[in-house]
Amino acid sequence: MNTSDWKAKAICADEPDFWYPVGNSGPAKADADLAKWICNARCYVRAQCREDVLQTEAGWPMDRRHGIAGGLSPSERLALDPTRTTAA
Ligand code: SF4
Repeated sequence: MNTSDWKAKAICADEPDFWYPVGNSGPAKADADLAKWICNARCYVRAQCREDVLQTEAGWPMDRRHGIAGGLSPSERLALDPTRTTAA
């Protein structure tokens, strides 16, 4: 499946703003949790989306990461960044 194929099947395509809640608490946190649930429980292209976003954001700092993608929050994606180094 090429990129355009899986993006055409993305559940979030019809309402993309919902996957970009503003803030980390209250209603924004509830929206983010629901978006993550939809990704993980209902989206047939989650694996492709997650692989794509992790590759796209590799090496990015936290302040460049926004929204829910592949069922993950920005901080969860940062934790999975293969280019991330940790202090010894
Ligand atoms: S996994 Fe989530 S963010 Fe990715 S395409 Fe599906 S609904 Fe959209």
